[in-house]
Amino acid sequence: MNTVTRPRILVVGAGFAGVECVRRLERKLSPDEADVTLVTPFAYQLYLPLLPQVASGVLTPQSIAVSLRRSKKYRTRIIPGGAIGVDLKSKVCVIRTITDQIVNEPYDYIVLAPGSITRTFDIPGLTDHAFGMKTLAEAAYIRDHVISQLDLADASQDPVERASRLQFVVVGGGYAGTETAACLQRLTHAAVKRYPRLDPGLIKWHLIDIAPKLMPELGEKLGSSAQEILRRRGIEISLGVSIAKAGPEEVTFTDGRVIPTRTLIWTAGVVASPLIATLGAETVKGRLAVAPEMNLPGNDGVFALGDSAAVPDLAKGDGAMCPPTAQHALRQGRHVADNVIASLRGGPMRPYVHKDLGLVVDLGGTDAVSKPLGIELRGVPAQAVARGYHWSALRTNVAKTRVMTNWLLNAVAGDDFVRTGFQARKAARLKDFEYTDAYLTPEQVRAHVEGTARQE
Ligand SMILES: Cc1cc2nc3c(=O)[nH]c(=O)nc-3n(C[C@H](O)[C@H](O)[C@H](O)COP(=O)(O)OP(=O)(O)OC[C@H]3O[C@@H](n4cnc5c(N)ncnc54)[C@H](O)[C@@H]3O)c2cc1C
Repeated sequence: MNTVTRPRILVVGAGFAGVECVRRLERKLSPDEADVTLVTPFAYQLYLPLLPQVASGVLTPQSIAVSLRRSKKYRTRIIPGGAIGVDLKSKVCVIRTITDQIVNEPYDYIVLAPGSITRTFDIPGLTDHAFGMKTLAEAAYIRDHVISQLDLADASQDPVERASRLQFVVVGGGYAGTETAACLQRLTHAAVKRYPRLDPGLIKWHLIDIAPKLMPELGEKLGSSAQEILRRRGIEISLGVSIAKAGPEEVTFTDGRVIPTRTLIWTAGVVASPLIATLGAETVKGRLAVAPEMNLPGNDGVFALGDSAAVPDLAKGDGAMCPPTAQHALRQGRHVADNVIASLRGGPMRPYVHKDLGLVVDLGGTDAVSKPLGIELRGVPAQAVARGYHWSALRTNVAKTRVMTNWLLNAVAGDDFVRTGFQARKAARLKDFEYTDAYLTPEQVRAHVEGTARQE
């Protein structure tokens, strides 16, 4: 009988941060040194920056779902489910499996990388009528939904219904919202040619943001170029404007305009996963307040990173936090693995430092703006950098091949505008896709863990 107990490392979340961490732990730790377990609701790592291309049909959903079981070398034990609470005192993570069983997973080290969810505000009707762009299911749903609006408008004899089905509103002028509006506008622009009864002039995309500029991180000139590209393509940009009210058939803007529409896409920022609140620990704007080494001060063996953690941005200084980007999350993933190993072996941990490499924004086709290492690019060179960057960041060669093949096929043959109907008539609110109701309160976590300990 094996009586040796190895330290248990539990990684929560298989996104950019979690997967990089797990792969590094597998590479650097011998199997005898520690047991590594990963909790994840899905059997893939989602390459989120390419979601707008799934929504617009340039890529198939599978091409950006990178397998967690591609290689025999991957030896991490995977628990299919979501963490719904963490009890720091007894070092137990409470998990709801994909079959709704609640299980307790004890750990010696925990790495929290559950990412973020769509940030919402207290706006009447918003959470009932808006779609997000954070999960693969949402991207696939929105694609079907947009195509179904064209199908239904085409079939309708009612001009009022037609008009409302052919207007689309995207809220959020960050890169996620801008890319989403740009890519979907290309979809409807190309698709309408297959609907001879529809007047293309009726199709209208709105991109709105409460901020005075789109993607301020691009700077004045490049930001204006992005706006110019979108305006040229007929996307109506409204800045300093948000949503006052959302309903099933219309949306009211804060400037008083009422837009008849059945499509409200909400990409106005993200907040840390609700899992973080279950710890009852200190947070900064909802993200777990961690040290530059990404450990939680005062709690041995607890680490957090990526979108869910407020990691000090030492390269920027001035008390800045690392922005919630994939660029940081994946580097933090590797770095946190090194720090977990250091603390396991009794070595020193290192603070995380990374200077931002810039931003790439794919607006579809040959339209793009990019700012790699501060160099401002537009058009084809910007698109080459954007696609080259994403392509090289995909983890496996199979994923790279799928994405490249999809890009080539789409460039040559275009889109078929197939509406799959896989998710038709299913609940499609933000909470239905992002499972925000699944989490326990800190008190419920404690009571649950104590209750199960008493029964054992
Ligand atoms: C449309 C879009 C475009 C973007 N474009 C860019 C870009 O161009 N460049 C860039 O740098 N960044 C971009 N980002 C941001 C980037 O994707 C995120 O910052 C990055 O994914 C954060 O990595 P993460 O590992 O913290 O979280 P994620 O990658 O979101 O991973 C979190 C993982 O945890 C899982 N999970 C969630 N809750 C639980 C739970 N309770 N238990 C277990 N698992 C859980 C999720 O299923 C997911 O797999 C974009 C984001 C979006 C939405």
